[in-house]
Amino acid sequence: MTPDFPEIRDAVRRVCAQFPGAYWQKLEDAAAYPTKFVEAMTEAGFLASLIPESFGGAGLPLRAAAVILEEIHASGCNAAACHAQMYIMGSLLRHGSAAQKQKYLPEIAAGRLRLQAFGVTEPTSGSDTTSLATRAVREGDHYVVTGQKVWTSRAFQSDLMLLLARTTPVPDVKKKSEGLSLFLVDMKTPGITVKPLKAMINHNTTEVFLDQARVPAENLIGQEGKGFSYVLDSMNAERLLIAAECLGDGRWFTEKAVAYTKDRKVFGRPIGQNQGVQFPIARAYAELQAAELMVREGCALFDAGQPCGPQANMGKMLASEASWHAGEACLQSHGGFGFAREYDVERKWRETRLYQVAPISTNLILSYVAEHVLGLPRSY
Ligand SMILES: Cc1cc2nc3c(=O)[nH]c(=O)nc-3n(C[C@H](O)[C@H](O)[C@H](O)COP(=O)(O)OP(=O)(O)OC[C@H]3O[C@@H](n4cnc5c(N)ncnc54)[C@H](O)[C@@H]3O)c2cc1C
Repeated sequence: MTPDFPEIRDAVRRVCAQFPGAYWQKLEDAAAYPTKFVEAMTEAGFLASLIPESFGGAGLPLRAAAVILEEIHASGCNAAACHAQMYIMGSLLRHGSAAQKQKYLPEIAAGRLRLQAFGVTEPTSGSDTTSLATRAVREGDHYVVTGQKVWTSRAFQSDLMLLLARTTPVPDVKKKSEGLSLFLVDMKTPGITVKPLKAMINHNTTEVFLDQARVPAENLIGQEGKGFSYVLDSMNAERLLIAAECLGDGRWFTEKAVAYTKDRKVFGRPIGQNQGVQFPIARAYAELQAAELMVREGCALFDAGQPCGPQANMGKMLASEASWHAGEACLQSHGGFGFAREYDVERKWRETRLYQVAPISTNLILSYVAEHVLGLPRSY
């Protein structure tokens, strides 16, 4: 497939070349955040690609943002440290007040304000988002928020968190998806405690505890009670961007696997000459190409303002599975060296596994397709 946005791809690769595998390995050792990498991405303007020019961003289409993330991952880097900024601000852009946009978007575009944390998932509700228990109660010109979030990535590296909390109890709403509200929360608000959550990958993820945290009412995004629909609005963009990261991972795995299996000689010939070694790489390549078509179609629909839920969901599922298969083929074809940290294969293999679980798991995507595309009865 002809690569689109070739200038953007070249520019991203030039920045990423400054951050080789050794950089990411050292960060893992220290469970540290890739500050220098994020600064370089910010300086190059990549993180502000979706912010309109009138607010200091580049005003690019979603497809261009997807290309940026794909190239980051195809270069062996990982965009998880900063990708959320690209899609989280979508809720602010679409549903925030003029005053909120004017106050925050130029600061985010300039990299002076970090909106990296997205507080949705909770320990007891999981994928059943509308059952979340965090409560925000209006008291005068503030909301008092109490509850707990889990897997809130980058909370330590964010000035602001986009928080989903219940403002109207379930018995008082017609549907569970009503009565949830979205807030921009200053992470320095008294009553907020953040604890690191050690994970299989260096994802800077945390638990966030809110104990009577007072959030100014002016930080409510859009209308009270409509937060879930606002979050849903952002999800198609998020899924397409994550799918693009998977495609980048898949390209990295494929290139590594091809190079290594051509070079490595066992039994007097390159291991890549064996069909048992070639076929998993070739199959994963074919899956990646097919997933890319779906992702490109999803981006094209999104950028044209058309509904793209099926393409965004299926694109994310297909791309995450294709990258995993490419990762498996790459790891397996490296034999023991696949486990050597200096090759980066095992790191990328762990990293790409995440995308079958987060931001939405494969089963939940299949349920979406069954119900909303095929018209089967809702299963949960
Ligand atoms: C590294 C990492 C970073 C993350 N970052 C963030 C973040 O920044 N912000 C945030 O809000 N969240 C974040 N998440 C959370 C992530 O979105 C959730 O883990 C994911 O949505 C799955 O939810 P869960 O873990 O509660 O799994 P559960 O909902 O408990 O599901 C567990 C398993 O059961 C399956 N399952 C559940 N219900 C059904 C059903 N009805 N039918 C079939 N199968 C079902 C699921 O598919 C899944 O495989 C992160 C997670 C990880 C691991």
